[in-house]
Amino acid sequence: MRATVLTIGDELLIGQIVDTNAAWIGERLTVMGIRPIRLETVGDEQVQMREALARAMRDGRVTVVTGGLGPTHDDLTREVVASLFNAPLREDPALVEGMRRRFERRGMQMPASNRVQALVPDGFEAIPNPVGTAPALVGSYPHPQGDGLIVLLPGVPYEMQAFMQDHMLGRIAAMDGAPEVLQRTLLTVGISESALADLLDGAKAYLHPETSLAFLPNLRGVRLRLTAVGPDAASRLEDLATFIHARAEKWIYGEGQDTLEAAVGRLLKERNLTVATAESCTGGFVAHRLTDVPGSSEWVIGGVVAYANSVKQQQLGVRSETLGTFGAVSRQTACEMADGVRRLLGSDVGISTTGIMGPGGGSEGKPVGTFWMGISSSKRTVAVDMALGMDRIRNKERASTAVLDLLRRELQHFG
Ligand code: ATP
Repeated sequence: MRATVLTIGDELLIGQIVDTNAAWIGERLTVMGIRPIRLETVGDEQVQMREALARAMRDGRVTVVTGGLGPTHDDLTREVVASLFNAPLREDPALVEGMRRRFERRGMQMPASNRVQALVPDGFEAIPNPVGTAPALVGSYPHPQGDGLIVLLPGVPYEMQAFMQDHMLGRIAAMDGAPEVLQRTLLTVGISESALADLLDGAKAYLHPETSLAFLPNLRGVRLRLTAVGPDAASRLEDLATFIHARAEKWIYGEGQDTLEAAVGRLLKERNLTVATAESCTGGFVAHRLTDVPGSSEWVIGGVVAYANSVKQQQLGVRSETLGTFGAVSRQTACEMADGVRRLLGSDVGISTTGIMGPGGGSEGKPVGTFWMGISSSKRTVAVDMALGMDRIRNKERASTAVLDLLRRELQHFG
């Protein structure tokens, strides 16, 4: 089944924002076995929009449109659709009421301009927006291969994604002739894409055009996306997942939308342990990630951002001889920081980071990217090093992931 995606907005054409919506939708449709054949962008201009919409519906049995559903005069999607479908716009009282209440909850009066967002082309279904004001609109159109489905979504990425995930993907999957597609995503950390590919070389025996395995690396690890289409998709997916688990169990921390910080949180909670952070080069980012997890007050005690040597010494008790002999970025300092924060805050486990994040500050012995992370517990204190790259922000991401993974692996040794 073929699909087209149309993203609307002048700001996309002039390079003010990057079209992440089209990429996200294209990926989701592909995973479902629906083939996107064109991603097109047009500005807020009626003639262009009308022509692009007609083209999109001619070529795709599924047409997904984002943007132009806002309350201002340049938001033209609903008018253009109404005119193309010859479907007059009618105000939906339930939508007006929903929006009014939404403003009321924030102690505001609904601006009159928002009322246009309650206009629905005749024959379309409106789905209220749980996270914003613009509702999604869903309609159908005749297509040579059967009924076509058109979906109009707000441009704001998280609103669009919420609609797609909660409503649209299910409807698309239920269309006559849509392939049965199953998918799982296994999340790995601490192993590179190429090492993982070597390790999983044997997976080829499970793959064919209808069962696929994609390696999706980012700064937080490599995601393994398993997809199976067609009859007996479930058992093929299960076989592939079992094979991958058997080979790569050590590096798999979760599945789907899970996060490393949530996985670490579960391990700490199960073991009834608490953690504290001593962060130099990550500047509090590790504590930030740990506390992104709901309920983390049960296992996170606190942290010290020990950026200056004086804080390392005065707060964490790092010895001046250690700093003088080995430097702030060293195994010894990482260990003393982890011990120090555990002692200072009274946690079961202390973790630490110290490194040269760049772009300046490197030396011959310690180039940019030199990074040490430490962990201290009743069992032992150790530090591990890692070579990061030259980009400061990417380095903070990778360093925080590495120390959370160190904690994850260390916790395996606690019963
Ligand atoms: P709303 O009424 O909620 O603003 P809308 O349908 O009018 O929804 P737009 O005004 O087109 O949406 O876009 C709102 C914002 O969403 C834009 O300023 C932009 O930040 C973001 N956005 C829109 N389209 C895209 C896109 N294709 N990719 C990424 N971001 C987008």
